[in-house]
Formats: sequence, C-alpha cells, structure tokens
Amino acid sequence: MYFFKTPGFLELLYPQALWHGDREKKKIYLTFDDGPVPGVTDYILEVLSELDVKATFFCVGENIKKNPDIFKRIVQEKHGIGNHTFNHLNGWAVRDEDYLRNIRLCDDMIRQYTGEDQIKLFRPPYGKIRRKIIKRIRYEYKIIMWDVLSYDFSPDITAEKSLYKSSKHTRNGSIIIFHDNNKTFKKLKLIISQYILYFKNKNYEFCNIEDMYMQK
Ligand SMILES: [Zn+2]
Repeated sequence: MYFFKTPGFLELLYPQALWHGDREKKKIYLTFDDGPVPGVTDYILEVLSELDVKATFFCVGENIKKNPDIFKRIVQEKHGIGNHTFNHLNGWAVRDEDYLRNIRLCDDMIRQYTGEDQIKLFRPPYGKIRRKIIKRIRYEYKIIMWDVLSYDFSPDITAEKSLYKSSKHTRNGSIIIFHDNNKTFKKLKLIISQYILYFKNKNYEFCNIEDMYMQK
C-alpha cells in the first residue's frame, strides 16, 4: 500500500505536528531529507538556484559533520534547515534518552553554522516518534511532517509514477518529501525540475518552511 497522500488517521496520530501549510495560499514546501550528501545535494541546490525557488533540508548530523561545505551552502542560499537526528534514528526503536541526546547532537552541529535565532524545525526519521518525545520537545521545536510523499526511495515506483502521483496530490500549502541521498538520486534527477516547473506554471510559489513562522 502506497500513501502518496498522507491519510487522515496519520495526521490524527500526531496532532501537534505540522502536516501542511495554509490551504488558502498557492505555496508549496519542498523538503529534502537525509543529506547533505556530496553530488546529490549539490545537484539539488543547483536546480533550486536555477529555478529560483526555496526549499527546506532536514539534515542528518553526521552528514553535516562529513560535508560542512555543502551544509554552509544550504544556509547561505537561504533554504530552511531542519534537524533529522544525528544518526538517523528510528524513534520507536531506541530509548527516549538516547533519542533526545541524538537530537541535541544534531542541533549542536546545525548551530555551528547558523544563528542562535534560527527557528528550530524537527522531522523524525521514518516519521516515527513517540508521543512522549513530542511532549518533551514541542516547545523547542516545530515538528514538521508532510502531506505528500514522493516515494523517490522506493524501487517499486517508477520516476513517471512518482512524478504523476506527487503532482496529483499536491495542493495549496502542501509539504512534499524528497530525499537527497545516493539511493534516490537517479530518480530525483528525472523528477525534481519537472515537478517544480509544473507548479511554477500554475503560479505556485516554493517556500522555505521557516517563512511560515516568521510571518506569524
Ligand atoms: Zn530520513
């Protein structure tokens, strides 16, 4: 079963999390998880820059540590930054204290390159997080989920199908997930520009998720 569009029951599971933006505004929020990864993230940044759009990157701390220059470029080019734990942990499989410590480690890494006033966004790897953890971090972090999943990581979904389904389910305020890693790269190259251009032609604006909180 594939959920390109997030089913309502999932949203109800974590009501404190953000699943989409304003449904009245023609804005779309591109998100890229798991980077920064050499080659892949660089390619995406190039595309975003050429098409003059903003996105949000949920970064894994150990990848920031390995690729600080790519991370700096994400910051410099005014894309959003989110915490995706230091080691890409499954929130249902590790002890709460270990999970919280791992979020903190990633935060320390991010803060070496951003200002203290940076809005703190968090996305749990695999979308798996215990409700207890949400309670512990919800005043410090905005927890960002999604309403459209591209399935760029799935070997069973072709690039054509991913593009078609992702486009079909995207609407005002949608938050869509892609992944900047080596497994998705081949498919991503076939999808990403086309997806952006399709909605740019329909007068959509692509925004950094942090903007949502700055205007309020
Ligand atoms: Zn991830």
